[in-house]
Amino acid sequence: MNVLLKNAYLPANQCVRDIASVEGKIHFPVPGEAVTYDRITDLEGKIVFKGFADIHTHLDKTMVTDKVKNRSGTLSEAIRIMGPYKASMTEEDVLERAEKTIRMAYSNGTRYIRTHIDVDKAIGLTSVRALKKLREKYRDVLKLELVAFPQEGIAEDPANYAALDEALAAGCDLVGGIPANEKDPAKHIRMIFDLAKKYDVDVDMHIDENDDPSSKTILELAKQTVQNGYEGRVFAGHLCSMASMDPKEVNAILPEVKKAGIQVISLPSTNLYLEGRGDTARVRRGIAPIKKIYRETGIPTAIASDNIRDPFNPFGNGNPLETALITAHGCHMGGVGDLEDLFDMIHSIPMKMMGLHPEYSEGESAPLLVLDAWKKDEAIISQSIVLDPLK
Ligand SMILES: [Zn+2]
Repeated sequence: MNVLLKNAYLPANQCVRDIASVEGKIHFPVPGEAVTYDRITDLEGKIVFKGFADIHTHLDKTMVTDKVKNRSGTLSEAIRIMGPYKASMTEEDVLERAEKTIRMAYSNGTRYIRTHIDVDKAIGLTSVRALKKLREKYRDVLKLELVAFPQEGIAEDPANYAALDEALAAGCDLVGGIPANEKDPAKHIRMIFDLAKKYDVDVDMHIDENDDPSSKTILELAKQTVQNGYEGRVFAGHLCSMASMDPKEVNAILPEVKKAGIQVISLPSTNLYLEGRGDTARVRRGIAPIKKIYRETGIPTAIASDNIRDPFNPFGNGNPLETALITAHGCHMGGVGDLEDLFDMIHSIPMKMMGLHPEYSEGESAPLLVLDAWKKDEAIISQSIVLDPLK
């Protein structure tokens, strides 16, 4: 079906123009051409885009809140109680739950997902196999990137490290990490870079996911990124400890992050839920200072869901606009340009992080989605629905 959308607002290029789908390919109409359209809609400036990117989630753990209950609501209990459940997980179980969340995210306009997958001696490659099947099943309509993630640690456990190696050999796209949970974070980071170089993959780590202002493994990550010549290929997720630091300390860290070409991924919904649990007054929010990071340093910064309906976070609808609105509240981001930045943090910035072009080009096969909103800030405030004009 050939469809012409007149007066579409393209959010990455920030311009209004006509755009069409002709025989399944993107086409920009020119005057006098002889193309027959089955449907012509004047959008009067509504947003047309390729879809949202959720660049950090955990599809292997999603949708287990009815089975695994976190009584304290802390990160440590979440990790502890997921352990035994993980050991019992089957490929079918992971596939069924992950697919439920993928379909929910898809219906909310997400077309690009990067998921971390726990890999250790207990679960082995069970979840990796399930997610590989889903990566293949949805290949034509959704890009799914798989991160081999050593939640249970590797520095003290060679069997967990061997499992991580196997997961990369089996086709995971990136290697993860969580150095602050180890006795020797520097060793953890060294071991991860060894694997990254062995398989020539990018690195996406959980960094300093805690309220401790002295937790600065980000500096070690920056140092080793430069030592390994991995500038531009490393992603730092969370950075919650920065929320507890004196701003002067943050100011001293950010130039090192920038020099190493590290890109930042903040997970505000889960951070708001898990961090500050030890505070009885003046409860900290635990979200990295993303406005400062993005605006003052220009470091590419994205936001993402992290956990969806599991012991780490009982909430989530796989809707990046929801993540953006939660972030707006959590980071006091409602001022001039803030919501526009947040829209970019769920769209163009994470797409670029995944090596994709956020804006359309003539002749490409790309999703053509319409947001029921005229502006980026309105899309977030009204939690706009996403429409597929080809349906
Ligand atoms: Zn995570």
